[in-house]
Amino acid sequence: MLYLLLEDFRAGEMVISMRIAVIGGGASGMMAAITAARAGARVVLFEKNDRMGKKILVTGNGKCNLSNLSFSDSCFHSKEKEKAWKIASRFTPRDTIPFFEGLGLMMKDKNGYLYPACEQASAVLDVLRYEVQARGIEVRYGAAVEQIQPLGEKGFALTVNGHAERFERVIVACGGQASPKTGSDGSGYRLMKALNIKMVRPVPALVQLRCQEKGFQALAGIRCDAALTLLIDGQEAARERGELQMTDYGISGIPVFQFSRYAAYALEKGRRIQVRIDLLPELFAEQIPDWLKQRMERLKGRSAEEFLTGTVHKKWILYFLKEMGIKPNGEADNIPLSRWIDLIERFKSFTVTVTDTNSFQNAQVCAGGVSLRQVDENLESTQYKGLFLAGELLDVDGRCGGYNLQWAWCSGYLAGTYAARERKKDSV
Ligand SMILES: Cc1cc2nc3c(=O)[nH]c(=O)nc-3n(C[C@H](O)[C@H](O)[C@H](O)COP(=O)(O)OP(=O)(O)OC[C@H]3O[C@@H](n4cnc5c(N)ncnc54)[C@H](O)[C@@H]3O)c2cc1C
Repeated sequence: MLYLLLEDFRAGEMVISMRIAVIGGGASGMMAAITAARAGARVVLFEKNDRMGKKILVTGNGKCNLSNLSFSDSCFHSKEKEKAWKIASRFTPRDTIPFFEGLGLMMKDKNGYLYPACEQASAVLDVLRYEVQARGIEVRYGAAVEQIQPLGEKGFALTVNGHAERFERVIVACGGQASPKTGSDGSGYRLMKALNIKMVRPVPALVQLRCQEKGFQALAGIRCDAALTLLIDGQEAARERGELQMTDYGISGIPVFQFSRYAAYALEKGRRIQVRIDLLPELFAEQIPDWLKQRMERLKGRSAEEFLTGTVHKKWILYFLKEMGIKPNGEADNIPLSRWIDLIERFKSFTVTVTDTNSFQNAQVCAGGVSLRQVDENLESTQYKGLFLAGELLDVDGRCGGYNLQWAWCSGYLAGTYAARERKKDSV
């Protein structure tokens, strides 16, 4: 009788529907649960919080940058870069769009960056939640999975609140440990370690960098366009251009976030990290003398501060004048061309020394996680058949710009699809 109740007819063939547990109700977990349920599995989703998708609500400053049409291998980082790209290419933004359109979400494209048209991250979460409900997925809240016990052919026993329950397949989608207040507190890493699954050491990524230099209080609050070069032991390691944000302890903003992962790993190895900041990227070094001569000609009789006004943010002007011992209200005409050249060169190569990154609390994602060597291209564990992994738990981190959620959708989709795939004599 029980077997009859579990029967399901697909394509004229009688199959017994699979019982799958999904651990974690974030972006990747909800995607995995929906995909597995659509494929006919009976899905139970365990979420330790009292609601799903808390992190989705804070993405993109509450607007949720859910993917990006500009899509290439350079958007994803991993120790196994080639494999990461192979996997990421199996469910691309071109698949994300119809998936969300199918859930009723209208989207807008801002230079390739995809957002919900209503610019509310809650809309992305809601359409996922409604589909979870519509697909009959059983969601258990306040359910932190404490242990995954492999039972060989019989699947896995999950321990939740001291109570063990058996499932044929398990999808682990617990996230990493970035922004732990949203629920991803590293418990997924602990579950993996208990199973002897190998990890690439997680570090904070898409995060601010703390600097050694004093006097940053005077610069805090500046937001300006800049070209940044990351130097590791004096060697150029990465370049970024975009809006730099100055804080009282260091540097922030998207260009800083983009290379923070490299800085984090290099700092761990005790290497010297610097960032060279060009505040006037449009002005080429060889143009500086002529440009200054013309400026001195046109702006005769001005004070030093007035002479520089209109070049960079006022706080930078006062900072550099002080550094060079030039009085802001002193006459600009009395300052020789060579000193002005020196000052403009400082605008173009302000170099700061990085002492640390901010912590996981402030990081948007984790770099590192479960090594991709531990899974096949369907995201099934190579060690434990029937165990699938998805999302940020894996050693894949994307650039800022919608790529981390794209990875969550992609990996959730693959894990859900292949976890639900039948294997003969494999059902309860
Ligand atoms: C401030 C901020 C802004 C961001 N903005 C963007 C953006 O605009 N675009 C973008 O692409 N990415 C963005 N990201 C990154 C993106 O949100 C994450 O990469 C993505 O949400 C990860 O999804 P996930 O499903 O792997 O993990 P998570 O979303 O972290 O979900 C994991 C879930 O598992 C639950 N859980 C953990 N352990 C257990 C357990 N043992 N038992 C049961 N449940 C458990 C957690 O409570 C959580 O709900 C941002 C991140 C932050 C912090």
